[in-house]
Formats: sequence, structure tokens, C-alpha cells
Amino acid sequence: MQTIRKRLSILFVICSISAILLVTLFVNLTVNSKFNQYMIDIQNNRYQRIVSYFQEVYKRDGRWTEDSGAELMHEAYMGNYCLTLKDSNKKPIWGMNPNDISIKHLNAMFVKDKGVYNSKTFEIKSGGIIVGYVDVGQYSSVLLSEEDINFIGSINKSIVASGALTLVIFIIISLYFSKQFSRPIKEVANLSVNLSKGNFDAKSNSGSNIEELENLRNSINILAEKLKNQDALRKRLVSDISHEIRTPLNVLQNNLEAMIDGVFPVTTERLNYLNDEVVRFGRLLNNLDGLKEFESESIKLNFERISLDELISAIYKDFYLVAENKNIKLDYEIEVDKDYHITGDRDKLVQVFINLIANALKFTENGGRVGIKLYTNNKNIIVEVKDNGIGIDEEDLPFIFERLYRGDKSRHQIEGNGIGLTIVKNILQLHYASIDVMSKVGEGTTFRICFDKKANN
Ligand code: ADP
Repeated sequence: MQTIRKRLSILFVICSISAILLVTLFVNLTVNSKFNQYMIDIQNNRYQRIVSYFQEVYKRDGRWTEDSGAELMHEAYMGNYCLTLKDSNKKPIWGMNPNDISIKHLNAMFVKDKGVYNSKTFEIKSGGIIVGYVDVGQYSSVLLSEEDINFIGSINKSIVASGALTLVIFIIISLYFSKQFSRPIKEVANLSVNLSKGNFDAKSNSGSNIEELENLRNSINILAEKLKNQDALRKRLVSDISHEIRTPLNVLQNNLEAMIDGVFPVTTERLNYLNDEVVRFGRLLNNLDGLKEFESESIKLNFERISLDELISAIYKDFYLVAENKNIKLDYEIEVDKDYHITGDRDKLVQVFINLIANALKFTENGGRVGIKLYTNNKNIIVEVKDNGIGIDEEDLPFIFERLYRGDKSRHQIEGNGIGLTIVKNILQLHYASIDVMSKVGEGTTFRICFDKKANN
């Protein structure tokens, strides 16, 4: 199997080689064909010039002699072409020998009909009458000088050199970029392997500037964090359940043994106390059962149109006396002239608000305040339950909605079993509502529930 880096590098290199080859080939062909065209134009001009020259000579002398225009011969030798002057009957007056022309340089060039001698005949006219002919012969269709060949050769060399240089640069860049891709992916892969082995402390630290890879890295880090928390919670849950069960059992056992041994007399008061422990034990099991119902998603909800205003008013009235007995001021504030209707399960929502208000009263000392507030914004209907009670430790905050989680303070001093908020969260999720908590130790706690207006209509 190949690594991502290797696969990406190969892909980049293949793409760059193909692109560079294509570009090089294309540029090379274009330059050569344009250059050929340019040379053909020069050649045609030369033909034109030779014919005009002979016409001038004839006009000047009025006839052909053995050396009419022979001065062109030197230029023709130098230019590697052959001239033959003929009279009007096509009888040669003078001519050059094609074997005297050098053709060696042609091999270096990309020209048609290389090495094949071919000649072209042009008419020489004077006063509109043909007075002679001139043959121009050469060993290729396009005639090139040494400089022309050097020029086009150096252009071709530059094209190839720039192609090779670009290829090297591409290879370096592709190695760099493939590393940029592969490094975070490799890290995330290693992290997942660690997680699958149960090593939840593993973390991916080196960031990436590629958005998707950075998101992936962050998500896997969050996943690792969550798995770590879940693992800690699972361990805590087991010890919590055994603790919650062992305490009433110990009390029962010790008391019953003492009664059997005659250490304690069997009184109604003592039996009532033992019965309270059994009831508490039963309540814990009932709550766990309730939770199981939500978590196995077997819960049945009876949805109906509910006015949150009416529902909360009724609960507020029920709690008013309880609060007063504890000398706590319980307020209910509502933003008027708003629609507070939602679709929901009345009993389950009552359970939610009872839980939150009961907690607020439970965790607020005598003389404190608890406020319930109902209001709306564009998207949500919002219920807030706010107290100025003992507050929740910052480190406990992320866990208070977990099963059996109880803040350290409440664990020892205040009755409860840490299931209420888990059930609250589960019920709200079924109503497409969210719950947030803000709290400061010693200052108080605010729970805010947001019912999505659209989802609840
Ligand atoms: P319980 O109240 O039975 O312990 P909950 O699930 O209702 O269980 O609450 C979980 C924990 O959250 C509580 O033990 C307590 O530590 C904390 N808590 C909840 N509400 C409040 C509040 N209003 N003020 C302070 N702490 C709170």
C-alpha cells in the first residue's frame, strides 16, 4: 500500500511532466513553424531581388553577355544557392555548379526536403516581353544560413532548459505540498489508532492551514476529549451507583443486625427510618429506570398545543409556598403580549420546570432569590430559571447534564441523585430545545432554555 504523500507526489509529478511536455512541444512547434514562415518570406524577397537585378542589367545592356549579373555569383555561393541565367529560348548563358554548394548545416535543422536539390525558374521581363530566365536552385525548400540555424537552435535549447527547470521546481513544490496534506492526515490517522486502543490522552498538536484538514484535526481532538470525558464518567458512574446503593443497604443491614442482636430495640420510629431508606433506594432505582426509558428512546410523547405561560404560572404557584417556607423570594417575570404557544408533551415539560425550580430552591440558602423569566426573541421562546444560590464549580459545569453527576458540594450536603438534569436535557432534546447553564460559585446559577419557534409550531 502507498502512503498519501507518495501517491500525491506521483500524481503531481505526472501532471507536471505532462503539462510541461505539452507546453514545451507546443511552443517548440509554434516557434519552428513561425520561423519557417519568416524564412520563406525572406527567401521570396530574395527571389524578387534577383529577378529585379537581372531586369536592370538587361535594361542597361540591351542584351545578355557571358557575365551579365555574374557579380551575384559570390553572394549565391555564400548563401548556398545556385544561379543559372538563360536567354529567352531557355539556352544557358552562364550557371553555377550545384556541387559547389555546401549542404552540411542542413542536418541541424528541422526543414522539409532536406538534401534534395530543387530549383525554381523565374521570368525576366523587359518592356512586357520575356527576355530571359533565371534558375535559383538549393538543397532544401527553405534556405537557412548558419546564423539562422544557431538562432533557432538556441531558442529550442532555451525552451527545453526552461521546461527542465520548471519540472524541477514543480517536483520540489509538489513534494512540499504533498507533505502539507499528508502530515495532518497522518497525525489524525495515528490519533484514531491511539483512540481505538483506548489511549484517550492522545492529541494532535500540529495545525494545518488547509481548512478541511484543520476541521478534521479539531474534530478528532474534540472526539478524543469527549471519549476521555465519557471514559471518566463511565468510571465515575460505576462507583457512584455502587456508592448510592451501598449506603442505604449498609444502613439497613447495620440497623437490622443490631435489632436482631437486641442492641437496638424494635421501635416504630426505627422501622420508619429504615423504611425511609428503602423508599430512597426505590426512588433511585425509579429514576434510573426513567433515564433508561429516554436513553433507549422507547419513550412515548403526547404532543399537544401548550401555552408555556400558563404551564409555568401553574408550577410557579405550586412552588410559591415551598419557597416561602424556606424564606426564598420566588419571582415570575413575563414579557407581555407575546405568543408563548409551543407543541409539546405537557407532563414532560412540567417535569423539566419542576426539576429546574426545585434545584434552584434546593441549592439556594435561606433568604435568597429565585427568578423565573419568560420572553422571546426572533427565533426562540426563552425560559430562564435564575438563583443566587451556591453556584456550580467551573470544572463541574460541563458535566452537570451527565447521569448521576453531582457537584462536589451537593454530593455531601444536599439530598439528590444527579439524574434530574440528565432527564431535563433528554426531554428538551425531544422538543428541539436547547439548555445552557451559566454559574459562578457563591453568586448563583442561571439555566436558560430556548424553544425554537419554527421547530415547535
Ligand atoms: P440532583 O439535584 O439530584 O443532584 P441534578 O441532575 O438535578 O441532580 O443536578 C446535578 C448537579 O448539578 C447537582 O448535584 C448540583 O451539583 C448541580 N446543580 C443543579 N442545579 C443547580 C443550581 N441551581 N445551583 C447549584 N448547583 C446546581
